[in-house]
Amino acid sequence: MNKKQQILSSIPSVDELLKLDEIQILCTRYSRNIVLNCVREYLNEYRRLVLSLKEEDLKQVEYKQETLLDGIAVKLHKTMSNKLVNVINATGVVLHTNLGRAVLSEKAKESLWRIACRYSNLEFELETGKRGSRYSHVEDIICRLTGAEAAMVVNNNAAAVMLVLGTMAKDKEVIVSRGQLVEIGGSFRVPDVMVQSGAVLKEVGATNKTHLWDYEAAATENTAALMKVHTSNYRILGFTKEVESEELVELGKKLNIPVIEDLGSGVLLDLQKYGLPYEPTVQSAVKAGMDVVTFSGDKMLGGPQAGIIVGQRQYIEKMRKNPLTRAFRIDKLTLAALETTLKLYLDEETAMKEIPVLRMLTISKEELHKKAKRLYGKLLKRVGDKCSIAVIDEFSEVGGGSMPMHKMPTKAVSVTVPNLSIDKLEEALRDYTTPVVGRINKDRFIIDVRTVFEEEIDIIVEALAWSLKGEHSISALESGDML
Ligand SMILES: *Cc1c(COP(=O)(O)O)cnc(C)c1O
Repeated sequence: MNKKQQILSSIPSVDELLKLDEIQILCTRYSRNIVLNCVREYLNEYRRLVLSLKEEDLKQVEYKQETLLDGIAVKLHKTMSNKLVNVINATGVVLHTNLGRAVLSEKAKESLWRIACRYSNLEFELETGKRGSRYSHVEDIICRLTGAEAAMVVNNNAAAVMLVLGTMAKDKEVIVSRGQLVEIGGSFRVPDVMVQSGAVLKEVGATNKTHLWDYEAAATENTAALMKVHTSNYRILGFTKEVESEELVELGKKLNIPVIEDLGSGVLLDLQKYGLPYEPTVQSAVKAGMDVVTFSGDKMLGGPQAGIIVGQRQYIEKMRKNPLTRAFRIDKLTLAALETTLKLYLDEETAMKEIPVLRMLTISKEELHKKAKRLYGKLLKRVGDKCSIAVIDEFSEVGGGSMPMHKMPTKAVSVTVPNLSIDKLEEALRDYTTPVVGRINKDRFIIDVRTVFEEEIDIIVEALAWSLKGEHSISALESGDML
């Protein structure tokens, strides 16, 4: 018998395996059928792997039942555990699009939970007992906060822009400044969205300068709207000119053409008094006289993913009747979280305290320092003998395409480990049960505490201790080291 056959014949049958205590324990935790399927699949993979190996590679390999059982347990665990998991955001990027953008407040979580698990009056009018509109739950609060006449909400801001253009400008021209043809995170580009919506883009001006007369000269009978797009994630500096909203609105009135604005990140509070740069608020866009304004729910607003549209009732009514609205419609969980988040804005102090995004953006230097020192102290105690740790000054970003030039001074804990490359450390931390995502700067692993929640500090400590032990059994097994 050659080595290959020898190993293959040592592999127990499915029935034999199912009788073992190790597998029986798995059957009590998961259902027997699931374990059975997993054992079958794993044995098939195992056999295929053995068959694929060359005789000389098999020389050092011995069959071990223990490793086989470990492999089954790991596979089962991986199959049964969720792929979408919580991670610790140690990057300091508050609106990290890859890590889920805005983190919801406790209050929003509670209402989302309540509405999710029971029936609700989503589209039912309690006063009349008749069919209602899901948008009615948030329209009043949005109007009250922004000063707009009417409002509605859809899945995200990209959908909001598409709906606005598709409703107001299908087969007609929309005039946009060349300096504002923004791309957000790859899939959202103003010119592409325009095409999809059926509107015809008419670019005016130069990249750095667009004048009011550029818009005026471009307007024709076939112009459906003048559009302003907030250049969320970039700035054009130097010899530049952008037309003010008020001027554009005035021109729109003169030509009898509606003026619309894509604000991107919808801020409802002027955050300048908290040391952040100026960002146009939704209120200011409405006040300037914009006919329709769109913005995101999960950027600076700090709510769930949503696209909010505010403006004149005549336009909003038309959008509600557009069949696209059905495809873009917001679900009840989002609606619940959004309503509660918006209610928090009725009192500025409450909003600043309860909404995590606002809290993270405005957290004081002293608080950051205290948090960094707490993490530092715990790390020193647990793994201080194995790595060098320090509290350092760093900069964090807002993220989510908001305030691109703004660097917020922050406090971070840096970690370096002798004899372990920084890439390996970063990888190990990502591999922990609760993955820790940080950044690497000059060969140090950086944990920016701005985006770390208090209760996550202990998890980071454990993650680092685990990473330094080098016990990445799961990764080792994954890399094909099964035998
Ligand atoms: C972010 C952004 C969008 C897209 O918003 P989503 O909510 O991510 O769909 C559109 N326009 C501008 C200007 C933005 O900043």
